[in-house]
Amino acid sequence: MKLVFGCDHGGLDVKQAVIKMLAARGDAAEDFGTFTADSVDYPDFAIKVAEQIAEKRADAAILVCTTGIGMSIAANRFAGVRAALCGSVAAAVKSRTHNDANVLVLAGTIDPEVAADIARTFLETPFSQEGRHARRIDKLERGGRLSEISHLAEADPEVHAAVVGQIHQENSTINLIASENTVSRAVREASGSVLTNKYAEGYPGRRWYSGCVPVDTAETLAIERAKTLFGAEHANVQPHCGSSANMAVYFSVLKPGDTILSMSLDQGGHLTHGSPVNFSGQLFNIIPYCVSPETEVLDYDDIEKLALAHRPRLIVAGASAYPRVLDFPRFRKIADACGAMLMVDMAHIAGLVAGGVHPSPVPYAEFVTTTTHKTLRGPRGGLILCREAFAKAVDKTVFPGLQGGPLENIIAAKAVCFNEALQSAFKDYAKQVVANCKALAATLTARGFHLVSGGTDNHLMLVNVARNGLTGKDAAAALDAAGIICNKNTIPFDKNSPFVTSGIRIGTASVTTRGMREPDMQRIGGWIADILSDLSNTALIEKVRTEVAALTATFLVP
Ligand SMILES: *Cc1c(COP(=O)(O)O)cnc(C)c1O
Repeated sequence: MKLVFGCDHGGLDVKQAVIKMLAARGDAAEDFGTFTADSVDYPDFAIKVAEQIAEKRADAAILVCTTGIGMSIAANRFAGVRAALCGSVAAAVKSRTHNDANVLVLAGTIDPEVAADIARTFLETPFSQEGRHARRIDKLERGGRLSEISHLAEADPEVHAAVVGQIHQENSTINLIASENTVSRAVREASGSVLTNKYAEGYPGRRWYSGCVPVDTAETLAIERAKTLFGAEHANVQPHCGSSANMAVYFSVLKPGDTILSMSLDQGGHLTHGSPVNFSGQLFNIIPYCVSPETEVLDYDDIEKLALAHRPRLIVAGASAYPRVLDFPRFRKIADACGAMLMVDMAHIAGLVAGGVHPSPVPYAEFVTTTTHKTLRGPRGGLILCREAFAKAVDKTVFPGLQGGPLENIIAAKAVCFNEALQSAFKDYAKQVVANCKALAATLTARGFHLVSGGTDNHLMLVNVARNGLTGKDAAAALDAAGIICNKNTIPFDKNSPFVTSGIRIGTASVTTRGMREPDMQRIGGWIADILSDLSNTALIEKVRTEVAALTATFLVP
């Protein structure tokens, strides 16, 4: 066990008595001062010691000042620090068994012998194994999201209120939006960090401005981790979003008027794959491909026919609302047959690819683009992976072609996200996302709902609610009223307008992050089925809303 100590001038004698007593224990120890009776500022010492605990460089700490109060306040500012001011052996026992305190704070006015007893007890008492204490500490460490925005409360109450609204919404509702996730606190800390203050036009080592050493470190980490995570030759981590990543690939290898073969929006593709309301549809000649009207899965023979007939320069694979595995080797074959390049937009499934539960497109495509904020569970942003041969063209197109200064705070958060995705726990996460999706799909199917393509292989499903006499718009609104958040979505060959739609899209990335598993999916599926079977039953919606609140209360948001 590594122990660290700190005190101010009022705590010097007690600290020294405790250190002397503990010397016999043989623990590794480090004293961060103060070492003389001269007047000093207690936060200077509390901060040094608390950093050691928060950064997990030490296992326990002892702080002393005249009353113990200043040291307690200062140390408890750090997330992960649980500092307990103890005046008796009994309090020291409780601070360990109940609160898992990792910092003991002592008053400099107590008898040094008593202080030594308290310290010994603190170090020798284990944390209780009773579940209620662990749950409370979990709430303390993960649930205290309001504590992160207290400066904002004072500086800008109106914006603060909006953020508080989101916190409460995340706490008390079930988020089934397939394109969303809930990032870790580490990702949020990096995205809210001081790196937002830096201009860094260019790339690491080749910037236009001075002072880029810290952001170069962060961006290089992001690049290297992205390459390792996906086995890619080159990574550009600067695109502000998925759309700009796609735009950068198009502009690096296409000229206006060139032909792109891609999945149309109303079939599950993305706006940037050639929708007429998007730059892609306005600048390029788009040949859309569809799913089979019978099976509702991609008809690769048909895609090949279109490719050979229209000879596109680029084929785009990937979708925003496609519940099945994409066959990348087949797309490669089609591209080779017609002399096209292949771009895979894995925005939705990047986390599943990273976690090994969806095949990787990287070996098959010249370009792979993605967002970092969907199943990949990072900050809101984009990423381009490409073969070395296209590295220069892609980098030049992103900057100076399309963007100015990169968002280095977001890039740092991407680095954090890639590192999280490289851990084995992320593989378990990705597996559970798919298992949860299958469980939810099975529940809805058993209750008589038709899923587009008959099921799901990934993190999302499309429910054809028109077969049950509903519109997507009404279905999503009723679920929303019950605290179950999803979105209306067109289904292939939809007869309703995109504002009304015949379907809803449901995804399990966010609820899985929260820790929910198959039994929870069955309950949620049951509630969805209940509501969609009796849409105007407001009493039922109220009842489900209460049950949703009870369920979500047991799953803390990171
Ligand atoms: C979400 C998505 C994008 C775009 O992401 P933004 O960050 O919103 O621009 C691109 N392609 C696909 C397939 C998507 O699902």
